Formats: sequence, structure tokens, C-alpha cells
Amino acid sequence: MLSSSSNNGTNKETCIEAINLRTRKLNGFKLLTVFSREYGLIKLSGSKLGGRSEPFVHNLYWIGNSKSEIHSIKHSEFKGQFRNITTDLDKLSLAWQYAEFLEACSHHQEERSSEIFDLFQETLSQLAQAANNDFAPISNNFFWHLSELLGYKASLALCDQPETNCALKSRPESVEAWFDFEHGGILCSACKQRPSGDCIRVLPGIYKLLNILENSNQKTNTNNSVKNIAAEDFVTNILQKHLQKHTDRKMKSTNISKHLKSGSKA
Ligand SMILES: [Zn+2]
Repeated sequence: MLSSSSNNGTNKETCIEAINLRTRKLNGFKLLTVFSREYGLIKLSGSKLGGRSEPFVHNLYWIGNSKSEIHSIKHSEFKGQFRNITTDLDKLSLAWQYAEFLEACSHHQEERSSEIFDLFQETLSQLAQAANNDFAPISNNFFWHLSELLGYKASLALCDQPETNCALKSRPESVEAWFDFEHGGILCSACKQRPSGDCIRVLPGIYKLLNILENSNQKTNTNNSVKNIAAEDFVTNILQKHLQKHTDRKMKSTNISKHLKSGSKA
């Protein structure tokens, strides 16, 4: 999988840029799961890494070219960290969620790994800098663009009418609409399409938020001044469920996050 930067046979090393997702300690060694710009999700092992092995730290790693699934770290260089994430339980639980989705979608991401890396890095910096507790727009931006980069962007025009004829486009307040998880997007009642059994009713405000996401780029800060927290949370649930439909895993962190939130209020 990895290509070498040196071909003299004795000193084969590849330099990668990566953000740590998880670290496990094993007999003095550390086993790291990282998201790299070059290859997406990979596993690394090394010792004497100090703070560079902490979660959500951004490093350069020089790794040996091995055929095994775990690549040994020859040396590493600290590039930066997202300071306020690991000290804030709410931010940390969200960063875990993003990491879990990246891991679950690992089999689709190698060819767009550089763009996914940029999205992840940008999302973590927005999360680190966020001063209030309104993180849903940051999550929604991440999940929307992750789906897009992985090749299964939600469709906001699944109706069988040409887009211009669908009433949802011209007067969303007057038609019923559903997000259909089976078909991966929005259907409306005016076009006489029936949704599958796995769908959820979508009110005009939700439809508008999804449209804002569709017209945003990865670096858009959708955290605008007019906030509808309940609607933003609803969109997060839709996007997470949409992404989960394309993976073969049940996410644990979405429950962890809810558990942490209810725990912190008690
Ligand atoms: Zn329609």
C-alpha cells in the first residue's frame, strides 16, 4: 500500500502527515490509529512518543515500509494540537464521534484522503475555537461534507420530477417532505413518490438547513447568528443515520455523547 521515498533498500522511509485518533499501550509500545493525509486511516506502532501519541495531536511520522497492517514509526515531529478539545468533555465527545465515523468509513476513503484530512483538520480547529456550546453546525458541516467526499452525498431532490417542477424547490412550506434513508435523500408528497419504511418527516426549516449545507463549502462556518438549536440537532441525527446506512457498523460514540450530555446536566 505505501510507496517508498527512498529505494536503496536499506533506508526505506515514507513521511506522512496525520492526526491521532486512538492510542493503545502494549508492553512499552504504543499502537496508534491515525488519519493520514496520504493514505486515510492507518495503524502505526512506536515507542518514546511522549505527548505526540495523545489523541487529536497532529504530527509528521516517518514510517518504515512494511507489508503488515501496522507500520513502525522511525521518528516523528509534532505539528500541532487542538488545545481546547481534550480539556472539554463536550468537545472531546464530539471529536470521538468524528473519529469513529472516519474509522467506520475507512474502506471508502483512500482516494480522497487528502480532502478528508483537510475537512477533519478544519472541523477540529473550529471545534477547538468554538466559544459557546452550539457545536451542531460544526458537526453538520463535517458529516455533510464527509458523505460528499465518500461518494454518498444526500440528495435534496430525489423526486421523479425535474428539479424545477418539484414543488419542494419553489414552495417548501406547502408540501410534505421526508428524508428517506433507504433512497438516501429527500422526497416530497407533491411528486407522488412514496417514501420507503425507513424515513423521517422533514419540516421546511430542516429542508432549508440541508440546502444551506449543500451550497456550502468545507470551510464555510455555518454557525450563523440566527440559531435554531433543535433543528440543527435534528439535522445532525439525519446526517449521522444517513452515513451509518453506508457503513456496516453501529456507532457507539453517538450514544456516548448523549450519555455524557445527560450526565453533565444531572
Ligand atoms: Zn418533489
